[in-house]
Amino acid sequence: MIIEEKLPIPHTMADTMSRIVSKFSDSGFECYLIGGSVRDLILGRKVYDYDFATNARPEQVQKLFRKVIPTGIKHGTVTLLKNNKSFEVTTYRADGKYIDGRRPESVSFSETLEEDVLRRDFTINGLAYDLLNGKIIDYVNGLRDIERGIIRTIGDPVERFNEDGLRPYRACRFASKLEFTIDEETFKAIGRTLEIARKVSVERVRDEFKKILETKKPSIAIEYLRTSGLLGIFLPELVNCHEIEQNKFHIFDVYRHSIYSCDAAPQNNLVVRLAALLHDIGKTPTRRTGNDGDYTFYNHEVISAKMTRRIMKRMRFSNEEISKVNNLVLNHMFHYTDDWTDGAVRRFMRKVGVENIEELFILRQADRKGNGSRNGLPAPILRLHRRIEQVISDDNAMTVKDLDINGHVLMEELGLVPGPEIGRILNALLEMVLDDPALNRKDLLLEKAREISGSPD
Ligand code: ATP
Ligand code: MG
Repeated sequence: MIIEEKLPIPHTMADTMSRIVSKFSDSGFECYLIGGSVRDLILGRKVYDYDFATNARPEQVQKLFRKVIPTGIKHGTVTLLKNNKSFEVTTYRADGKYIDGRRPESVSFSETLEEDVLRRDFTINGLAYDLLNGKIIDYVNGLRDIERGIIRTIGDPVERFNEDGLRPYRACRFASKLEFTIDEETFKAIGRTLEIARKVSVERVRDEFKKILETKKPSIAIEYLRTSGLLGIFLPELVNCHEIEQNKFHIFDVYRHSIYSCDAAPQNNLVVRLAALLHDIGKTPTRRTGNDGDYTFYNHEVISAKMTRRIMKRMRFSNEEISKVNNLVLNHMFHYTDDWTDGAVRRFMRKVGVENIEELFILRQADRKGNGSRNGLPAPILRLHRRIEQVISDDNAMTVKDLDINGHVLMEELGLVPGPEIGRILNALLEMVLDDPALNRKDLLLEKAREISGSPD
């Protein structure tokens, strides 16, 4: 089916892309905009990558243009650089057999656009656009599905998921990203092909999961992942939170509270999104019934942090991501009262790490939103926030490094040798400075160090 329609390509891109396509057509080749970019243009969404499909072979594309990088030549993909922009151009393919639901055994080029479209995953991703004539080419009823907001595989869903176990995860991701519904047959097929989905490498699943966490409402995808059985493959701990009722102050079970908190965390902050999703994951193993008959979850933040570390390690997140998320989860239960001394405020800051404080407040806010209707932060928490800002602007000492003295000076002045004694003295000095920042002066610190040195712990 061919539909005449001019898609709203931003004019900064239109000219460059027309030139590219003209070059192909002047040399007798076909070249279409394809896949996600066509879908997003129709939906009026921002397009990040413009991909092309062509019947020209990679070596022919390399001859047509000056700057061509063979980025994925095995799969028929090259990257064109033009006017400081880059475009992926892929030769029509008809994918070979899949082994174990992983990568195709071989890639064979194809002569027709239709064959190239039929190898693609979902109908909404199977549209091509003829840029020069303003025509959408639709072999798979992709336009209808875009209009109805439906994710449906091209061809038989069980077959397509058996070919590639990543596709079911992608279906869930697109459901969140586009706020679409997964077609019923397609959804059922996910449950029937879990054995294939299980074989996908942990890194590829993690990358899909990260992309899900970057969508506006990850809860949509996560709920599809759970109900289809995919979530049980890579995050069974979260499945276990489902229908774990909380105490009387909560309207949601732990699972729903977790996914709604995740939605409420900032879309562009993966660390806080993960912390929001996992902050209560330890509630399931710590739930007890208290004397009043209501549930308690003592120490759940410690268990949650441990579980978070284990989950993120298993999914091969970076060490930096793991330690940041772990730290937020561990500290998420902080409870402030106005009788905190300035020393207590500074100690709290030191425990959390000054660089993580802001995110801890953002997490608290998401946690509250994830509880239902409450918005923003309560007055005492805002007062703590102001006190912290004050400490930061006063530039008060926070770590041993910020002391107006260091190990070398101690060794020289007190005739000490390198060893644990130095660390003990520095820590004692820091404790003193946390209570009274005015003491952070080399002369005063030295005097105090003399007192401490030699004295027992
Ligand atoms: P996004 O906005 O997330 O980039 P996209 O549709 O561009 O969405 P990509 O992963 O960039 O997704 O893939 C580009 C196109 O390649 C898809 O639109 C689809 O046509 C095809 N495709 C990607 N992955 C698969 C797959 N696993 N199986 C079949 N076709 C795929
Ligand atoms: Mg893309």
